[in-house]
Amino acid sequence: MAILPIYTYNQPVLRKKAKPVKSVDEEFIRFVEDMFETMHTANGIGLAANQVGSLRRVIVVDITDVMKEKEGSGGENGEDIPPEAKAPLVMLNPEVVGEAGEWVMEEGCLSIPDIREEVERAEAIRVKYKDLEMNDKELLADGLLGRVILHEIDHLNGVLFIDRLSKVKQKLLKGRLNKIRKGEMETSYPIVTELVEAK
Ligand code: ZN
Repeated sequence: MAILPIYTYNQPVLRKKAKPVKSVDEEFIRFVEDMFETMHTANGIGLAANQVGSLRRVIVVDITDVMKEKEGSGGENGEDIPPEAKAPLVMLNPEVVGEAGEWVMEEGCLSIPDIREEVERAEAIRVKYKDLEMNDKELLADGLLGRVILHEIDHLNGVLFIDRLSKVKQKLLKGRLNKIRKGEMETSYPIVTELVEAK
């Protein structure tokens, strides 16, 4: 397995729409393993292929550590933890087919280091996707799991969480985003420093 460098804020690949995965071969499986390794190394809970420079519609999600912490603290209001949230998830060609409610939560992104802002998203989603065996799957996800999935699907569509902030908030972030653009930041994980044209 390998740790892949993360593409940050101004890289064109983050603004492109990823293309559907049509088949799974050994190379693809290795790529997914590398995505997990990369995400875990960076202490992330979700990663989309765009973020490591590939325009394939695949995301990985792993909120198991967060869930364990919740379990350890007796859970928040005794809420149930869905079984899907207890194991790492790989989703190929994920598509939101239903949404309900809305809630605000602070988000961050490995591609936008050190910036965290509150984002409004659906509270619960139904998502269709394919697993690594190309089986059709459907999942009801709410809370943190639903939020991470929505954040990562945004990436596959070339959308970043800062796009969902108010114009005023975006203006206020301009200086800090410019610093990221110029590479004036430090990360605990490898990033791509040169601007790379998206394939
Ligand atoms: Zn992100």
